[in-house]
Amino acid sequence: MNQLYEVLELFSLPFNDLLFKAAEIHRQFHDPNKVQISTLLSIKTGSCPENCKYCPQSAHYNTGLAKESLMEVDKIVEAAQAAKQAGASRFCMGAAWRSLHDRDVEKICGIVDAVKKTGLETCMTLGMLTKSQSERLKDAGLDYYNHNIDSSPEFYSEIITTRNFEDRLNTLKNVREAGLNVCSGGIVGMGETREDRAKMLLILANLPKQPESVPINMLVKVKGTPLAEEKDLDQFEFIRTIAVARIMMPRSAVRLSAGRQQMSEQTQALCFLAGANSIFYGEKLLTTDNPEMERDQRLFEKLGIEGK
Ligand code: SF4
Repeated sequence: MNQLYEVLELFSLPFNDLLFKAAEIHRQFHDPNKVQISTLLSIKTGSCPENCKYCPQSAHYNTGLAKESLMEVDKIVEAAQAAKQAGASRFCMGAAWRSLHDRDVEKICGIVDAVKKTGLETCMTLGMLTKSQSERLKDAGLDYYNHNIDSSPEFYSEIITTRNFEDRLNTLKNVREAGLNVCSGGIVGMGETREDRAKMLLILANLPKQPESVPINMLVKVKGTPLAEEKDLDQFEFIRTIAVARIMMPRSAVRLSAGRQQMSEQTQALCFLAGANSIFYGEKLLTTDNPEMERDQRLFEKLGIEGK
């Protein structure tokens, strides 16, 4: 599918038809009762020079966030072991940087190596990467690199002005060419139109190789950020976005990411029916709250879903 009108047609299907179609495709490619679990740890928090309007870590906004420099490797490994015990299979680490500095590359590679030794898959999100940095991370054993495109190219400049959409695509290219698995998605509910959401999915689906993992985030409105007062996106539109992502990227893991805490169990259940098959799990999703693990476990039990 490479035409915008086709994607918009999917979005406009009657809700039940869209969910049925998405669920059918989901079952062809995945076990509908298994959900992959990732845990996300912020390994360097705040003071980011970028101005992403949704982000409490940006130095441009005052959100009262406690800033932390790059964590020591022992502390990171401790958190990874705890995540593994709680059932996670992948450990995602995020640093609030515009781009990775060459001076930090060896330290980051040491972290990847230490976390790999716990038996977890590793994922990093460190901002923009060059080709040689991507290759170095791959050599160190990194499994996934996360770099979201956030929204449509048109809407992007309304949300971030310190870098452009092309920069995002360049890093995705570097990461892919280095042989890393790609995790890339976006955020909905930032005031974008349905057409923006459709364009975002179209770009992800038409990358030379579709991302292995596609996180779809619902905006978490953080006080102090310019999007703090943004109007709520209808939850059905969020579920539709998940369903369209599943149809367009049948093999990818579609991840229910930020914003889950604001969702009812019923909305989350419909997201799983629509093809979401990965979640972030644990107490913190970078710097915003994530539903407690027990709540997730209870929901999985109610739905007969097995976390993996
Ligand atoms: S989203 Fe990432 S790049 Fe943007 S301000 Fe936050 S930490 Fe920085």
